[in-house]
This record gives sequence, structure tokens and C-alpha cells, in this order.
Amino acid sequence: MSVKIDDFGNLIGRLEGKNSDGPVLMIGSHLDSQPYGGRFDGTAGVLAGVEAAMAMAEQGIIPEVPVEVVAFCDEESWRFKKGLFGSRGIVGKLEPGELERTDKDGITRKQALLDFGCDPGKWEESVYPPGSIGAYLELHIEQGPILDVQKKPVGIVTGIAGPLWLTVKVKGFSGHAGSVPMDMRKDALLGATEMIGEINRIVKQEPGVPSVATVGSLRVFPDSPNAIPEEVEFTIDLRDTDLNRRERYEQQIRTMIVQVSVRHNLNTIQEETNFKPVDCAEWIRQMIREESRQMNLDCPEMMSGPFHDAVTLSHVCDIGMIFVRCKDGISHNPAEFASYDESITTI
Ligand SMILES: [Zn+2]
Repeated sequence: MSVKIDDFGNLIGRLEGKNSDGPVLMIGSHLDSQPYGGRFDGTAGVLAGVEAAMAMAEQGIIPEVPVEVVAFCDEESWRFKKGLFGSRGIVGKLEPGELERTDKDGITRKQALLDFGCDPGKWEESVYPPGSIGAYLELHIEQGPILDVQKKPVGIVTGIAGPLWLTVKVKGFSGHAGSVPMDMRKDALLGATEMIGEINRIVKQEPGVPSVATVGSLRVFPDSPNAIPEEVEFTIDLRDTDLNRRERYEQQIRTMIVQVSVRHNLNTIQEETNFKPVDCAEWIRQMIREESRQMNLDCPEMMSGPFHDAVTLSHVCDIGMIFVRCKDGISHNPAEFASYDESITTI
């Protein structure tokens, strides 16, 4: 492959095809990790792309269209708190202000790119014109336990769930933990915990569907053992591959939050960030199905709860994803593990 780093910081290898002007078949993932992350999230997909290109080169296969293997820059988002950076860059989906975002040391994204040898002034040259990417493929570790539990090495991804992120601020009134009678309190934490329990109940009402909701962050003010909590802020991450169902659950959650607030004499404010779920193309899934059958692999079809660069590429071309099993479903953790040998020998 001929190799370059573009001005978004993406590392791109290109294997020429018979038709060098044809739309590119792009295979990609990312090499960056979480601070407490593992070694396989993203990296497995980049190496799989390189392996595919190598296998073609070794067997003298010249593909019909050019194949590009991409290691996308900053997928994980931990440094500048806005990820999928390199993939959003090449499809022209960066937003105003991204260069001015700073990391925890005050270094701007612009400075970090310049230090790395990229020129943000030349971004336009690194954007792929409409129609120039024919399809996008990504292999990724599952980051969940389903394949490991089912003892299946590989899964075919049907779609990527779109998360809805809500930040809920619950406001009550603080007071001394010893003197304010129970029925005169406006306890924000009491209301918030009731809401959290209800969120769980709402997303579990239809058994067998892939709806998931997580409250992963909670802040309590004044956060003191002998003061009634005055203010609580918590996050909701709601995901589903079915947008209608997700919207139905979102409405139920919003109504429930109002009802609980009224019952506990509290005020609530909500802020949201909304992503739509995307589908993997049926024709690519069919190809993976047929190839798997020929390899005697029994591949479950499953949705992806986590986000991937494939979400961004779905805006400009058809996408396909393959999941590989990871041990105990552990990811974003140093214990993350996936094994090529194990995948093949325990079919
Ligand atoms: Zn990843």
C-alpha cells in the first residue's frame, strides 16, 4: 500500500485497484484508546484491514476498486471530549469550534494537530468528495458478552444503536439532616433515585428487545452526610436500534420524571444530545453471511450498542461490520482480551 497521514491525523494505506478512479472500498477503525482502556478496541479492526490487503497482495489479487485501510484519529473522545474526529473530518462533518477545544492541560486541538505535523488549513484537501467512498467495512471487538456466552467467535452486526443522552438536574431544598421532619423535605437525591429505578423498569418492559438505559454519572450537592441533598445531576444514556421504540421509551421517561418531581416537590431541567441509530447494509450482511457459511462459521446477527467510526461513514456510503468475541465481554479496561487462535479453534 502507499501510505500517508492526512490533515485530520488519519493514517491511510491505499492498495490500487484495476480502476483507480473507482469509488474506494474503505476498511477502518481506530488506534487510540481510553486512558483505562485495552489493546484490542479499534486496533483489531485496523490490523484486520491490513491483513486483508496483505492477503490480496500475497495472492496477486488486484481488486476492482482501490482498497484503503484507515486508522482514524481520535475516535474515543477522551482528550478533547468530542470523538469520531478523523472519520467526521473525511466526510466533512466537523463542527465550528472543534479546533479551539482544549485538553486537560489547556492544549488546543489545533495545537495538537500542528505538533503532530497536520495542517488544519488544508482540511478541505483531506475531505472525500461525495460518491468517492463506495462502501465501508469495520471489524471490531464486540465489547459485550453475547458472543463469549454463546461460544461464537464472530458476529454479523445488523445496526448500530443511536444513543440519546439526557442530563437531568433535580432541584430540591437543603436543610439540616437532624431537624427537618421527613414530610417537610424537598430531597433531590430521594427523587433522583426513584427516577433511576423507574428508568430501569421502563426499558425492561419488553423482554428480548435490545433497548438499554444507563445512569452512569451522578453528582450530589452539597454532598454532605448531614445535609439534605439540594441538587442532583445525573445522566441517562438510552440506546436502541429501533428509533420508534427509543422515542416511545424517551417519552415515558420524560413523563415519569415530571410525575416523580411533583410527588417530591422538586423541579427538574433536562438537556439532551441525540444520535439516530444506523443500519448495516443488507447486501453487505448477505455477503458476510455467505462467506461465513463457506467457512463453517455460525455467526449470530446482533446490534452494536457502542458507537464506531462506521456511524459517521454511514452518512456517505453503505456500511458493514463484523464483531469478534472478546473475553468475558470486557472492554475499556486493561483486562480486554481477544484471541485470533482461540476464535478459530473453538468454533
Ligand atoms: Zn472502538
